[in-house]
Amino acid sequence: MKRYMVVWVGMFFVVVCVSLYLMMETVSSNMGKSSDINTVLIEEKIAKIKSDIHKNKNLINDIKDIVRKMTRGDREAAEKLEKVLRENLNEEEEVDKPQVQVPVVKADIKSPDVKSKGAVQVSEKTCGLAEGPNANSDVQMLQLFDFLKFDNPDGGAWKQGWPVTYEKDRWGKDNVLHVVVIPHTHCDPGWVKTLNDYYHQQVKPILDNMVIKLEQDKRRKFMYAEMSFFSIWWDEISEEKRERVKKLIANKQFEIVTGGWVMNDEANTHYAAMVDQMIEGNQYIHGITGAKPESGWAIDPFGHTPTMAYILKRSGFKNMLIQRVHYSVKKHFAKERSLEFMWRQNWDYGGATDMFCHMMPFYSYDVPHTCGPEPAVCCQFDFARLAPSRYSCPWSIPPKAIDDNNVAKRAKMLIDQYKKKASLYRGNVVLIPLGDDFRYDKLEEWDKQYNNYQKIFDYLKKTPELGVQAEFGTLSDYFNKLYEVTGTAKGSRPKDFPVLSGDFFTYADRDDHYWSGYYTSRPFYKNFDRLLESTLRSAEIAFTLAKAHQDKHKMVNLQSETLMKQLVDSRRSLGLFQHHDAITGTAKDFVVEDYGRRLLTALTDSKKVIVESIAYLTAKKDYKDKVEHMFNLDESREHHDSLPEKNVIAVSSDPVVVLFYNSLGHAREQVVKIHISSPHVKVTDPNGNTVATQTDPYWIDKEEASLERYKVSFVANVPALGVSRYLIKEAKDNQKNVHSQITFYSSEAEITDQGPFHMKTESLGDFTLETSRLEAHFTGDTGLLQSVTMKSSKKTYQSTVSFQSYGARGGKEKSGAYLFLPDGGARILKGHGVIRVVKGPVVSEVTVFMSHVQHVVRLHNSPGTDGLTVDIYNLVDIRDQTNFEMGMKVSTDIKNKDREFCSDLNGFQMQKHKTLDKLPLQANYYPMPAMAYIEDDEHRFSLLTAQSLGVASLKQGEIEVIMDRRLNQDDNRGLGQGVRDNKLTPNRFRLLFEPRNSPVVKEKTDGFPSLQAHTSYLHLIHPLLTIPQREGEKTPEVVPSFSALETPLPCDVHLLNLRTLQGKPDSNVDKYKPKKEAGLLLHRLGLDCALPNSGLQCKDTQGKIAFGDMFKDFKPSKITETSLTLLHEKESISPETSVQLKPMEIHSYRVTW
Ligand SMILES: [Zn+2]
Repeated sequence: MKRYMVVWVGMFFVVVCVSLYLMMETVSSNMGKSSDINTVLIEEKIAKIKSDIHKNKNLINDIKDIVRKMTRGDREAAEKLEKVLRENLNEEEEVDKPQVQVPVVKADIKSPDVKSKGAVQVSEKTCGLAEGPNANSDVQMLQLFDFLKFDNPDGGAWKQGWPVTYEKDRWGKDNVLHVVVIPHTHCDPGWVKTLNDYYHQQVKPILDNMVIKLEQDKRRKFMYAEMSFFSIWWDEISEEKRERVKKLIANKQFEIVTGGWVMNDEANTHYAAMVDQMIEGNQYIHGITGAKPESGWAIDPFGHTPTMAYILKRSGFKNMLIQRVHYSVKKHFAKERSLEFMWRQNWDYGGATDMFCHMMPFYSYDVPHTCGPEPAVCCQFDFARLAPSRYSCPWSIPPKAIDDNNVAKRAKMLIDQYKKKASLYRGNVVLIPLGDDFRYDKLEEWDKQYNNYQKIFDYLKKTPELGVQAEFGTLSDYFNKLYEVTGTAKGSRPKDFPVLSGDFFTYADRDDHYWSGYYTSRPFYKNFDRLLESTLRSAEIAFTLAKAHQDKHKMVNLQSETLMKQLVDSRRSLGLFQHHDAITGTAKDFVVEDYGRRLLTALTDSKKVIVESIAYLTAKKDYKDKVEHMFNLDESREHHDSLPEKNVIAVSSDPVVVLFYNSLGHAREQVVKIHISSPHVKVTDPNGNTVATQTDPYWIDKEEASLERYKVSFVANVPALGVSRYLIKEAKDNQKNVHSQITFYSSEAEITDQGPFHMKTESLGDFTLETSRLEAHFTGDTGLLQSVTMKSSKKTYQSTVSFQSYGARGGKEKSGAYLFLPDGGARILKGHGVIRVVKGPVVSEVTVFMSHVQHVVRLHNSPGTDGLTVDIYNLVDIRDQTNFEMGMKVSTDIKNKDREFCSDLNGFQMQKHKTLDKLPLQANYYPMPAMAYIEDDEHRFSLLTAQSLGVASLKQGEIEVIMDRRLNQDDNRGLGQGVRDNKLTPNRFRLLFEPRNSPVVKEKTDGFPSLQAHTSYLHLIHPLLTIPQREGEKTPEVVPSFSALETPLPCDVHLLNLRTLQGKPDSNVDKYKPKKEAGLLLHRLGLDCALPNSGLQCKDTQGKIAFGDMFKDFKPSKITETSLTLLHEKESISPETSVQLKPMEIHSYRVTW
C-alpha cells in the first residue's frame, strides 16, 4: 500500500508542476505587455515549458507502465517506480533553485560572450591586386571559353582539326625547317602496376639500356622526368655506371626534364606539395649529378594549371611543355598559330611571371599523334611497331624499315607530316616527340627507333633541297633552337608570340568526354593527402628548429639522423602521391593500396618527428630521456584505409601535460578537443588559470554514449610558431567545466540521461544553434542547415544544405575513374534518420544520420577565426551503391551573375569560371583543391575544403561538390576497371559568409580570398597538433609556452615551409646527416580587402620582413635568396636588413643557423 501511495504522490506532483508552469507562462506574458522583456527570454521559457510538458508526459506514461506491471505482480516494478520518482523529483528540486548551485548536469549551456581581438587594419597597398587590372595578355582563357563554339566537326585524317596544307615553297635550301626528334619514355610511378613492379619490369631496363645505347652514338639523345624511379635505379647501380650517366648529362645527350619526384597531377594537388616534390626531385638530381633541370615536360596530367608555370618559372626554368588540353582549344590555337605562348599569371599585369610554353597540338603524346596531323602516317614511323613487335598500328598500315631503296619515299612522307605540323607554329623549328608509355625497355627497340630515324636524318642532310634538317634532341635542345632561329634570349618572348593567361580545365580529349570525374575519384586518399601534407610540413619545421636548437646549445641527444631519414622518406611518399595517377584516384585498386600504405607510414613517421622535436624544444633541461617515454601520438590508425582513433588521455588527480603545437607564423586562439577518461576535468592554461571547458559524450552509436571515454573542448591560445602547455586533471567540483546537453529529434526510442549527460527526445521542430558571433538555423524536418545569421552585421544568409546524387548515363561510354558522364541533373536525396543536437558553451553541433552520410554541422564559440565559420563534417558511405555519385549542395541568396564563381587552382590562386549552357553539365565542373566562392556586390559566400573535390555552380546562388563516386565500369582510358573500392570517407568543409564593402570588379578574370578566408583555410588544413603526455609517466618538465619567433609573421605571409636540407643523397655515410642549412619558403598571400576580418592575431607590414627580428633563439648566421627549389642562388642577405615580399609570390631562402 505504501508503494501505491508513492505513485499517487508522484503523479500528483507532476500534474502540479505542469499547472504551475502554465500559470507562470500567463504571468510572464502579461508582464511582457507592460515591461520590456527580452523576447528571446520568453521564447526560451516557452521552449523549456514545452520540453518539460513533453518530459512529464513521458514520465506519466512511464509511471502508468510500471503500475500496470505492478498489478501483474512484477516484483521489480516497485523498485523501478521508486527509482523513477526519486530521479525526477530530485531534478525538479534543482530546477527550483538554479541560481544557488550550478550542478554539473544542468549547467547553463548558453554560450558565454567571447570577444574577438578585433579587426586587423590592412593597407590598401597590400590588396592592390584585387582591385588592379587583369594580366596584360593577348589570350584570356575565360574569354576564350565564352567565344569558342565547342562544336566537334569531323576534321578528316586529323579528326579534331582540319586538312592542313602548306605552301610548297615555304621551306627550301635557304629557309630550312629544323626538326628536333625527341626520344622519350613516359613512366608512371604507379598506375596499372605498382611503383616497384614498374621499376623492376620496365624502368630498370629502360635506364640500363639508355646508358648502353647513348654511348654507342653521340648523336643519340634521350630524356627522363620522374626522380622517384631514377632514385631507385641510382641506388642500385655501380659507381662506375653513375660516372657514365653523369658524362651523358654533361655532354647533353641525356636530359632530366622537370626533375620532380613525379610528373604531378595539376588539378587536385596543393601548391605546397607541388613545390615540395619539385624541391625533393631537383635537390636530389642536383645532389647526385650536378644537373639543374631547365625545361618542364608534362604530357600526361589531365588538364593544366598556371600554378605549375609559376612554380617552374620561380624554380629557374626557361621553358615548359603541356599536352592534355581541350581539343577545341587546341584547334583554335592551331588555327591562330598560338600553340606557343608566354604563360602569364592572371594577377601579373606586367609579365614578371612569363613562362615560355609549348602546347602539343594533337590528341595524344604517342607517335601516331606527334609526328604530324595524320595518325595513320605517323604510326608508320613508330619503328617500335616494326614486326616482330608487341606493338602494332591500329590504322592497319605497318611501319617499314628504312633502307637505301625506300628512304627517299619514306622521308618524303614523313617530312610532309613535319611540315604540316610546323605550319601550326610560328617558328621554323618543329618538336617531334618519339616515345610512349614505358618505351625503350628492350635493347632492340632502341636500335629500331634510332637506326631507322638516323637513316632518314642522313638522307635529309644529303638532300638539302627538301628544306628539312632533322636530328635527335632533348626538350631543351628544341627550345634553344627556337630561341636561336627567332633571335630571342633564352626564356624570353620570341617576337610576335602571344601572351596567355588562365588555366586549361576542364579537359576533354574527345566528344563530350570531360575529365572531371577524377576531381573526386578516391576521395578518401585525397583527404589523406592533405593530412599528410600538413603533418609533414609541421614536422619539417619542428625538426629544423630542434636541430638549430641542438647546434646552438651544443647538445647531442636529438636523434637527428633517424628523424631526417623519417622526413626524407615521408617527403618522397607525399611526392609520389602527387603523381597524375595517384592523387587523381586513377590507379588500380592494389596500386591505390600501395600508395595508402606509404601515406600511412609517412603520416606516422611525421608525427613521431613532431613529438620528438617538440619535446626537445620545450624541455626545461637538457634533453636526456628519449621522448617516446614522455609524449605520445594523439591518434592511431589501424590500417591505411581506416579512420583514425583518438588516443584517450587517462586523467586523475595528478595533472597530465598536453602540448598544442602551432606550426603557423601567427598566434592562434581556437577551440581544441581532446579525448579523456573522465567527464569531470579541470584544464589549466600556461599561466595557471582554469579555462572554461565543455565535456561532450563520446558516441559509440547514434544514441549511445560511452561511459568510459569523453571529449573535452576548450579555447586554446598558442603563440606563433610555438607551443602551449595545458594541464588536465580530474576534478569533480570544477564550476568551469560544463556538460553538454543533448536532444534527439525523430528518434524511435525514448532516450533519457546517460552518464553525466542530460539527454532528451523531442518531436520535430525548427531549431537554432547559437554562439556569441553567429546563429545557425536548421529545419526540423531534416535537421539540415537553412540559414546563418552573422551577429556583427545582423545579416541572415540563406544557406540551405542538401545532399544529391548523379547516376551514370547509358550507352557504351560511361563514367569511370577519369570521366564524369552523368545521366542528367542531380537528384535530391530525401529522407533522414535520427537528428542529434549537442549544445554547450564552447561547441555545439547537429548530427544528421542519413542513408549515405553522417552529416555534422559544428559551431565554435571562439574569439578566433573558428568562431566565424560554420564547420561541416561529412562521413560519406556509398559502398552499397552502383554508378552513384554523391554530392552536397549549398543554396544561398547570393546573386552571382552569369553563374560566375571562383575556385582555386592548387590552393595557390583563384580562377574565375562561368557556367556555360553550351557545355554539358560535366564540363562545368572544376577542381576545388582548397576553396570556391560566389559573390554579388554585397556579399560573398565561400566554401573552404580540407580535401580536393569537384565543384560547380550550376544555378545562381549555388555551390555543389561531389564527395564520393562509385562506378561499376572502366571508362576506356587504360585503367581497365571501375571505381568500387570506396571507403567510409571523411570530408571536411567550412562555410564563410562575408559582407562586401565595395562592389565586385566585373572585368576581373581571377579573384582573391579575404584575409579571413585565407586564415580560416590555413586553420582548417593546419589544425593545432595535440601532443599528450604518455600514460603512466611522471609529469614532464616542459616550459609553459614557447615561440620560435621574436616577431610573428605579418597577417598575409604564410610560412610555407622550413625544411632542413639532406646531406649527400647517394652517400652511404652522410645520406641522412642533416645539413646545417634549411630552405625557408615564405608565401605572401594575395588578398581582397573589400571584406572585413575579425579574430586575427597578426599585423599588416605591407610585406616587410626583418629576418634579424624574426627568429628568437635561432638567429641565422647566413641567408641567401634562392630559386624556388633552392638550386639557383641569388643574392646573400644580411640577417639585419629587411626584405620586401610581393603579394602572391613565394620567396625562398637558404638559411644557415
Ligand atoms: Zn601517365
